[in-house]
Amino acid sequence: MSQRREIPLPPPERRVYCNRTLNLRAIRAIGFDMDYTLVHYRVDAWEHRAYEHLRQRLVEAGMPVADLEFEPDLFMRGLIVDKERGNVVKANRFGTVKHAFHGTRALPFDELRAVYGRTRVDLAESRWEFMNTFFSLSEGCMYTQLVDRLDERRLGGVMGYGELYDLVRRTLDFAHMEGRLKAEILADPDRFVDLDPDLPQALMDQRAAGKKLLLITNSDWAYTRPIMTYAFDRFLPRGMTWRDLFDMVIVSARKPSFFTSRMPAFELVDEDGLLRPVLALSDPGRFVGGDARQVESCLGVSGEEILYIGDHLFVDVHVSKDVLRWRTGLVVRELEEELRAVQAFAEREAELTALMAQKDRLEHRHAHARLGLLRLKGGQGPAPDVTPARLHREMGRLREALEALDARIVPLAKASTELYNRRWGLLMRSGNDKSSLARQMEQYADIYTSRVSNLLYLTPYAYLRAPRGSLPH
Ligand code: IMP
Ligand code: MG
Repeated sequence: MSQRREIPLPPPERRVYCNRTLNLRAIRAIGFDMDYTLVHYRVDAWEHRAYEHLRQRLVEAGMPVADLEFEPDLFMRGLIVDKERGNVVKANRFGTVKHAFHGTRALPFDELRAVYGRTRVDLAESRWEFMNTFFSLSEGCMYTQLVDRLDERRLGGVMGYGELYDLVRRTLDFAHMEGRLKAEILADPDRFVDLDPDLPQALMDQRAAGKKLLLITNSDWAYTRPIMTYAFDRFLPRGMTWRDLFDMVIVSARKPSFFTSRMPAFELVDEDGLLRPVLALSDPGRFVGGDARQVESCLGVSGEEILYIGDHLFVDVHVSKDVLRWRTGLVVRELEEELRAVQAFAEREAELTALMAQKDRLEHRHAHARLGLLRLKGGQGPAPDVTPARLHREMGRLREALEALDARIVPLAKASTELYNRRWGLLMRSGNDKSSLARQMEQYADIYTSRVSNLLYLTPYAYLRAPRGSLPH
């Protein structure tokens, strides 16, 4: 193809990124999660309502929280709750804690070092709770605010930070399961659902290319049906509905058990959700329950031939990869805002890098001058051919230059740590390193992208190649 006919790349925030080489031509079935994967919500609106339901239930349980308000920026995905200490922390890929808040108070550097200097976050330990999805925001915000109240002894009774977390978790769990919150979403989807007109075409392309498409969601039929209708049907050709896009629909899937255990399956026999127990899944079909191994045997595909795309880091990609070796894709909508913030800061980031390189050089000269002085005084090793007084003067000049540099570096470095979220910084980075979220993502998600419709650009025939991994040298 000539240069002139080259197809322009989408902007960075709309590309599909690859951790492990994936040939889409070899993929025979693509499974999609629904909530925050195929259907994106206006996070503030959804989590605001979830928070209010949570607060209401806590009030009913006698807790003095009626005056609390949802603060969307208090929390973000990828943070980790330390249930032992009532803290929320952000860790890097080694589990080193780089930022921490106790309630709504940031831990200053000395306290951070004293508390976490010898601690590595190991998510396998029950002490830590990793916040996997946007659905975690209301929970994290409430927990943070309640830790303050617990410390002020305003919650009554004897309760530790761990019990407090369990209470918030249980209560929010209940709000999700019980019908009222979902009924509010369904009553006013314009307010809560963030439509993506390109999404149906992306799925139609994959299907036309012969891939089986599956919807596998933890939401129930009563919620899935109207939400999918709302999000898809308006963008489909006349006479077609979302149901025509999927060979198999599995609701109330109970992931992660769906991937790990044998689960009974029920066929949905009418629109109102009437069920009939079945011994195996069938294609095409609509089911409640069932499990991943039944999907494999029904479609006659192996793990390597199924790509599952979801937004929940643990449930959707970690477990399906670990247990079944399915190919995996993670949807990270935050990438769009994060990459735009990074691009807007690019010039200042370059300035910061240049200043840091200058600082390195000055520090190196200072270290050599100091060593020269040591050798002159101690009479050992090849000493420099200058007087100690001159070395002292040079060290003084270097220190002044370093101080002047620092005065320029500090505000830039601070601004760089406040990109995306003023409290917590970028989702993917922790200090100069990858964040714990980024680490898990590279471990478990073969590809990642901000939204499913980004597949449009790739086509069903793309060969995604993993980049060569970086090392400090
Ligand atoms: P999926 O992402 O399509 O699998 O669906 C996620 C479903 O899980 C939605 O129906 C959410 O309301 C529900 N959900 C999210 N967080 C919780 C929770 O903490 N407890 C129970 N259900 C939840
Ligand atoms: Mg989801």
